[in-house]
Amino acid sequence: MTPLRVVVVGAGAVGCAIAAKLARRDCRVTVVDRGQPGGEASGAAAGILGAGAECGEPGPLLDLCTHSLDLWPDFVVSLRQRVGFGCGWETCGAIEVARDADSAVALDRKGQLLAGVAASLAPRWLDARELRVRVPELADDVCGGLLHPGDGQVEPALLAKALAIDAARCGAQFHCGQGARALVVQHGHVTAVACDRETLQADAVVIAAGAWSQPLLAGLTLRTTVRPQRGQLALVEMEAPPLRPVLVWRGGYAVPRRDGRIVLGATADDAGFDKRVTAGGMLHLLAMATAVMPALGEGQLRDHWAGLRPMSADGLPLLGPHPEVAGLFLATGHHRNGILLVPATAQVVAQAVLQADTSVDLSPFLPA
Ligand SMILES: Cc1cc2nc3c(=O)[nH]c(=O)nc-3n(C[C@H](O)[C@H](O)[C@H](O)COP(=O)(O)OP(=O)(O)OC[C@H]3O[C@@H](n4cnc5c(N)ncnc54)[C@H](O)[C@@H]3O)c2cc1C
Repeated sequence: MTPLRVVVVGAGAVGCAIAAKLARRDCRVTVVDRGQPGGEASGAAAGILGAGAECGEPGPLLDLCTHSLDLWPDFVVSLRQRVGFGCGWETCGAIEVARDADSAVALDRKGQLLAGVAASLAPRWLDARELRVRVPELADDVCGGLLHPGDGQVEPALLAKALAIDAARCGAQFHCGQGARALVVQHGHVTAVACDRETLQADAVVIAAGAWSQPLLAGLTLRTTVRPQRGQLALVEMEAPPLRPVLVWRGGYAVPRRDGRIVLGATADDAGFDKRVTAGGMLHLLAMATAVMPALGEGQLRDHWAGLRPMSADGLPLLGPHPEVAGLFLATGHHRNGILLVPATAQVVAQAVLQADTSVDLSPFLPA
């Protein structure tokens, strides 16, 4: 049988993971990227795998995040076996901390709600004493926290690199350094992608262009729009702190790596496609982080950067086939959870391209 020719637009973690899955299923896959693999949001992310900490309420996003979190162990172990290096994956847990009585009540209630609908997340309320046993350096006003023991972390830059290597080894061809400009649609079927230097013929096209997806979809009916949201991050280095859970507070978080680096995030700026780091952004991040954990103020500031989250207007990613254009599939709009959602996205989008039943009901995520 002639292999299916698939063009994946975007070599972020999402595009590369889909490309690898399809290449392993004997598709002839070409990945096109304006820049380099992992050069945008996927390489810039903090790497929290926070199904519990990031999802506030029951619904399709919580279900998808929980499903993806469950896929992570097998996904990352087999990726490591194929590429020969790990990407800092840990089930280190995450704690959402409360700094006043109202937040404590709200978090405790959230824990009860999640336990009712997603038992595998097993959230547990920690009072101030239990919390300090785990994280002694918290500020005096931290009065409790909601522990999500199954949440974890990964190093996104390593993950993005591993996924690109994996896809290439599986046979995907990378055409980097050129943008996709437009889809070529004939008689209601996408037949090619017009790029800066060439036109790539395709039986199927997957749009995984992150925050830049919208222009490629001009003229098509969409369930929701995708636009960029800037997130600024800082990296602080502490002298050999023990490995701790990820800490999350209202408007920010600290992600401790094993070696003493701590990623502090993140702003949520409406700044268009501007990826600059601002003084105000850093001030906000560092002030919040040191208010929750004053000891962070002793750390050395090693780095700062920003990335653009692909944010959908309705808060849900766009996944699956477009109803108006045969052969067109979307995998975008993952906003704050695109790293967490890599395994589930690769699974269901590859299934959709191959016209197999999907492991998750895609109806809430369909593009239109
Ligand atoms: C500061 C920050 C912190 C984050 N923290 C977390 C976190 O802790 N946990 C989590 O799960 N998620 C996190 N995220 C979200 C996550 O990074 C994204 O949702 C995810 O990386 C999106 O992946 P992607 O592959 O869709 O997009 P990207 O990684 O942005 O990749 C899109 C690719 O498409 C390419 N492209 C765009 N347009 C074109 C075109 N026309 N032609 C060719 N190529 C094109 C780009 O060059 C890019 O390489 C964070 C994001 C940011 C910015």
